[in-house]
Amino acid sequence: MEYRTLGKTGISVSEVGLGCEHLQGKPAETVARVVHAALDGGVNILDAFMSEPQVRSDIGAALRGRRDRVTIQGHIGSVWHDGQYERSRDGEQCRIFVEDFLRRVGTDYIDIGMIHFVDTLDDLKTVEEGPVLDYARRLKEQGVIRAIGMSSHDPVTARRAVEAGWLDVLMFSVNPAYDLLPENTYIDNYFNVDTWRGEGFSGINPNRAALYEACAAHGVGITVMKTYGAGFLFNPGLSPFGRTFTPAQLIHYALSRPAVASALIGCQTPEEVAAALAYENASPEERDYGAVLAATAQFGVTRQCVYCNHCHPCPVGIDVAAVNRCLDTLRTGTDAQDTVRAQYAALEAHAGDCLACGACEERCPFGVGVIGRMREAAELFGI
Ligand code: SF4
Ligand code: SF4
Repeated sequence: MEYRTLGKTGISVSEVGLGCEHLQGKPAETVARVVHAALDGGVNILDAFMSEPQVRSDIGAALRGRRDRVTIQGHIGSVWHDGQYERSRDGEQCRIFVEDFLRRVGTDYIDIGMIHFVDTLDDLKTVEEGPVLDYARRLKEQGVIRAIGMSSHDPVTARRAVEAGWLDVLMFSVNPAYDLLPENTYIDNYFNVDTWRGEGFSGINPNRAALYEACAAHGVGITVMKTYGAGFLFNPGLSPFGRTFTPAQLIHYALSRPAVASALIGCQTPEEVAAALAYENASPEERDYGAVLAATAQFGVTRQCVYCNHCHPCPVGIDVAAVNRCLDTLRTGTDAQDTVRAQYAALEAHAGDCLACGACEERCPFGVGVIGRMREAAELFGI
């Protein structure tokens, strides 16, 4: 298992993590088998947004004796009423269900206190100006949570929170289909099959690209939800690409976005955990999602680097996707230039090493002018 640093928190998390959503309603024994399969495979981060009491207790039982080796995302504002999950912005309700989480999971701290499901600017205002953010800050001061997170599906809302400066970790829905959805797609339609069959796809949604770059620039680590697109991307009849992706391709897509530290995979069985963990041993060819994207001409992903590394190998060992990621982040005029420059400096080969051989440009399915970008990167980064 490879581990990545979760932005400015400094927490080291497994690049493949576990989403526990699908464990709700499962027998305790199944919950334990899934959690143990993940931990035994090197997973050290899990998300448990669910407010349902039994699954919280079962996850706690499954973690007994191993809790300190796991980074837990617990959610502030995920509550349970009359047998139903609800989202709340009421300070007292948030407190009751955070304390319920701690009690049921059997811990006295939550690594990432995720302010739950903030998808509109109005809701963000409510969070920031109401009791929820105050409560999260108090929990952090008391050491009950180690970092403040927020989960969101909306790039504009999420970016506003990132740029406000209080956010440590963002949980965001990332997969190729969501990234390519037209900019004006209403959030409630993300999961609508008709949306995915519609017109108007024209490259990566600039708001989403800008969000990832803002996270990288501000040191906000991203943990990914919906890595598999709710399963749509495995179904040839539902995938908007007309072709299916493999788990390894989708995990690699998520992990290739700037600032992403971990792709959380919702698993219901140990076999699904094993399928996700197989990513760690997948070859570059098995991870390569570029060909699937490129085969979908209607998306018009041209001259835009999607960080797929389909253009490898480079004779001097330049990681083209990584250089392009750093370049795109620096081009945003980020305040965190030092961070980006440090990431760039840590690469094994730099744009200044480019021989301008053109091999990568021949292989890039998106017509990216790599040689020109290498020149620009060498100039901006100085190596
Ligand atoms: S230059 Fe092209 S092939 Fe290479 S990483 Fe970017 S999009 Fe992929
Ligand atoms: S043009 Fe530069 S980056 Fe591309 S393969 Fe050749 S040496 Fe590598």
